[in-house]
Amino acid sequence: MIEKKHITDRFIKYVTIDTESDPNNPAFPSTENQWDLAKVLVKDLTDIGMQDITLDENCYIMATLPSNIEYRVPTIGFVAHMDTSPDFTGKNVKPQIVENYQGNDIILNEEKNIILSPDYFEDLLQYKGQTIITTDGTTLLGADDKAGVTEIVTAMEYLIKHPEIKHGKIRICFTPDEEVGKGAHKFDVNKFDAEWAYTMDGSQIGELEYENFNAASAKITITGKIVHPGYAKGKMINSMQIANEYIASLPPEEVPEKTSNYEGFFHLHDMNGNVEKTVLEYIIRDHDLDLFEKRKYLMQRIAFDFNERLNEDLVEVDINNQYFNMKEKIVPVMHIVDIVEEVMKEIGIKPLIKPIRGGTDGSQLSYKGLPCPNIFAGGHNFHGRFEYIPVESMVKATEVIVGIATKVSEKYA
Ligand SMILES: [Zn+2]
Repeated sequence: MIEKKHITDRFIKYVTIDTESDPNNPAFPSTENQWDLAKVLVKDLTDIGMQDITLDENCYIMATLPSNIEYRVPTIGFVAHMDTSPDFTGKNVKPQIVENYQGNDIILNEEKNIILSPDYFEDLLQYKGQTIITTDGTTLLGADDKAGVTEIVTAMEYLIKHPEIKHGKIRICFTPDEEVGKGAHKFDVNKFDAEWAYTMDGSQIGELEYENFNAASAKITITGKIVHPGYAKGKMINSMQIANEYIASLPPEEVPEKTSNYEGFFHLHDMNGNVEKTVLEYIIRDHDLDLFEKRKYLMQRIAFDFNERLNEDLVEVDINNQYFNMKEKIVPVMHIVDIVEEVMKEIGIKPLIKPIRGGTDGSQLSYKGLPCPNIFAGGHNFHGRFEYIPVESMVKATEVIVGIATKVSEKYA
């Protein structure tokens, strides 16, 4: 069995290394401190007996667990990210361990009166009797995704210590800069050389995800005409007024604050304007590819109609695709999801299969030729001071990794 103390110690060692990434630095990796964890991981992977360990110039770690069976089975991979979110500080993380949690309020920080309460975070109640790791209320925890990193290292160690468990070749990769959207950018899929992989980067126990948004950004630039307001009749074109009409032309219900599950949206996240020029910045999201294309078309169409009416091209729309729903790439190889579902059920986990309302590195990897669903790593309340993780969920995630390795070797026997 996977020992709770052992996995806790490893997790704490990783979360106390600050690896916050930086969205404003174009360098790769975006922060130097990600190397600190990378170097520790290279040593740990060496110590447990992994092979072909590489740390490349972009801070990607890859390593191999060789097959211990005679016949050939597909090489599979496990992926996690080393960085933590720039949304909240990851410096001086001081994890607190609450053993045998009883469903009460957890005081994160007495002095600052910061409390993690099941009144507000009711998911806590499903972990009564378990060991919960929290922050001290002043930082994030970094379970996203150091839980994933911990689980992969621990599963590999377990398989090495238990040669009686049969498995094919396994590849693992730890990436930098996932939180700033670049985790897949310099991922060398050819070098990784696996048939498929899993990111261990989901939230609560049971999560299994293979659908995410199709995503694009849209920039609407509106040009106006400035004239002295006292003499402006029939002459002035106020770009902010046109912007206002443009915004009102989009369906008012299709915004993030009014949508859930498979409902897509237009999200106006920035606007800047004066009479002469207004710029609107949107993101467009939809799981369905047709509806996604229709959304992009609608934004163009509204601009076209304005320009017709104004008799001049004053509204300009610039749309850029950001990422696509991995479902298109996963459905043709659906057995890679089914395997995980089977493993979860066998070890008493209820699979929670739901669409991601965002993107993952796995979606980009899937489009680079490495189909890559996402599995829970166990944490909750990512990217903030209320982040926490039950140790038992980390143990279960580790068992899922071991179980997948076994199941693949059985299926292809
Ligand atoms: Zn993550």
